[in-house]
Amino acid sequence: TISMAAIDKMGHIAVGTSTNGATFKIPGRVGDGPIAGSSAYADDEVGACGATGDGDIMMRFLPCYQVVESMRQGMEPKDAAADAIARIARKYPDFVGAVFALNKSGTHAAACHGWTFQYTVRDPRMEDVEIFTVEP
Ligand code: ASP
Repeated sequence: TISMAAIDKMGHIAVGTSTNGATFKIPGRVGDGPIAGSSAYADDEVGACGATGDGDIMMRFLPCYQVVESMRQGMEPKDAAADAIARIARKYPDFVGAVFALNKSGTHAAACHGWTFQYTVRDPRMEDVEIFTVEP
C-alpha cells in the first residue's frame, strides 16, 4: 500500500491510497483502500491521514477519519495517530497496521502496531526525502 498526503502552496490538503490489497484476498474483496476515512482522509481545515495494514480490521474503525477528527479537536498528529492505533489494538491485539498524520502546519507523525513502520517526508525546505521510522 502506498498512501500519500500533500499540502500545496495554497494550503489545500489532499491524500490518496493505492494498494494491491491483502495477500490471498478473495475475488471481489473491497478492502479499506476505497473506503473514505479508512485508509485515507483529509480536510483542508485540519490535515490528513493515511493508513496501511490489516484492512479488514482497520476499516471497522475508520482510523483516518478518527485521526483527522482528533486533530480537529486539538490533538497533535503524534497523539492522534497513537490514539487511532490504540483504539484498534484494544479490540484486535494481533492486528498489524500503521497510520501517519499530517496537520495543516506540516507537522507529521505516525503510529504503528505489530510491525515497524517507515514513512518518508519531503518539503521545499528539505534537500532530499527524509525517512522516518516508528516502532510499535
Ligand atoms: N490495507 C491493505 C488492504 O487490506 C493492505 C496494505 O496496507 O498493504 O487491502
